[in-house]
Amino acid sequence: MKLYQPDYYDKFQCTASACPMTCCMQWRIAVDDETLFHWQEDWKKHVKEVEEGHIIRLNKDGMCPFLNEEKLCKIVLSHGEQAISHTCQTFPREEHRYNDRIEQCLTPGCPAVLDLMWEQDDFHILEKEIKEKKTQTQKICGQKVKETSQNEEICELNPVLFKIRNWFLEIVNDKQLPLNTALEICFLIALDLYELEQKGVLEKEFLHYKNITDLQKIREAIGANDQMTEDRLEEYNLLFLDISEIYRKQNIYADFLVPLAKEAEDLDCQKTECWNKFLPKLAQWKQHLRKLFAEEMSSAVITPGTEPVQDILVKLEWMAMEYAVLLQVLFLHGYKGEITYEKLRESVCVIFRMMGYADDDIWEYMENCFDQVIWPWEYYALLV
Ligand code: SF4
Repeated sequence: MKLYQPDYYDKFQCTASACPMTCCMQWRIAVDDETLFHWQEDWKKHVKEVEEGHIIRLNKDGMCPFLNEEKLCKIVLSHGEQAISHTCQTFPREEHRYNDRIEQCLTPGCPAVLDLMWEQDDFHILEKEIKEKKTQTQKICGQKVKETSQNEEICELNPVLFKIRNWFLEIVNDKQLPLNTALEICFLIALDLYELEQKGVLEKEFLHYKNITDLQKIREAIGANDQMTEDRLEEYNLLFLDISEIYRKQNIYADFLVPLAKEAEDLDCQKTECWNKFLPKLAQWKQHLRKLFAEEMSSAVITPGTEPVQDILVKLEWMAMEYAVLLQVLFLHGYKGEITYEKLRESVCVIFRMMGYADDDIWEYMENCFDQVIWPWEYYALLV
């Protein structure tokens, strides 16, 4: 059995009371049935039923009611880690289990993860040989995981999908390519591979296709595509307002989102010159953004539910939306002031928490919000 994980995975440590954005606030914290069954009655008073199960009812200030003054979990302090829900035990770790491999990652919704990831020179995955694990971890939604030894779910995926994902990771990690160009190239390649799959020749033709693909030629054909246009600025702005709407309505991350939404609503998208003034401020963080999207490419493009290449295309589209929303948030912060490291980290955490949808929800969003689930190239290129 092979284990794959980012090279910083084992160094992760929760900063607990020192965390600037604890995961015990302003979030839907799931409590699984097994944990809930064993909870004391006075703990259960802080739990409410929702469509997908049970979640913790947060205080009016958005904090988890189980936190003490030092922002430490009272349940852990009194009854140990085993007493808290699987979500709380495992966050920010995720694990995807396949028939011959386990892939682990750390979600960018945690500031300590971002600090660790951004300390590395590059985003790099380690491969280790391990013995079969007795306890498995099952992904239950886009942002949370659940450990189980009973309800084991091992997925068998077409091996060519891993080869595609690994190729895309190489492309995003290639510092010769601007990040937006790298993402565009991946999308164009995925469109071609989707065609091969529909013809029933993907497995047979993949290696040949990869060998004859000239990334430099694709790069020249698509051009830099780095100018801000009115259409693009308008689309970035609309996407940010749309994605954040439900959170603003529910008063989640309100301190962060509400002032930005006000800026977005007042923004004159014809004044694209503001963007040109903002670009030099963004340039200092370009390696951070590359590592962030390399991590996304590695952890989110393939998950246990991925079947055809069409699923990969949809994930690439979602990633393009994350890219657009993140850039717009940084622009709204930065065009009048500076983008500090703390602002960048907070923005990434909020956006990746907001957009950490489960695969099914991503599909639903695409079906409801776009004419076609597979976007035309022009729309993808508009976003990245
Ligand atoms: S967000 Fe990360 S560092 Fe902060 S409390 Fe949660 S796990 Fe710990």
